[in-house]
Amino acid sequence: MAGYKYSQYLKQSNHEEYDKKYSPGTAAPNPGIYRCVACGDEIAIAKGHTLPPQNHHQHAPNAGRIEWQLAVFAQQKN
Ligand SMILES: [Zn+2]
Repeated sequence: MAGYKYSQYLKQSNHEEYDKKYSPGTAAPNPGIYRCVACGDEIAIAKGHTLPPQNHHQHAPNAGRIEWQLAVFAQQKN
């Protein structure tokens, strides 16, 4: 689970983007921390990068299908 110390650097949001699940190897639409829905593994993704492919992220075979869900959105200034 993603951790933090100072709560003023994070804000709670109910945006629908946090509910979407993305397949391995697809482009991440937003930069930030994504978690594997099946096993809880987390990864930081930069803007424009792709989510780890099936053969990169390994978890127990019985853990279920790999899907990435945005946990923390990294807000970048233009
Ligand atoms: Zn996993």
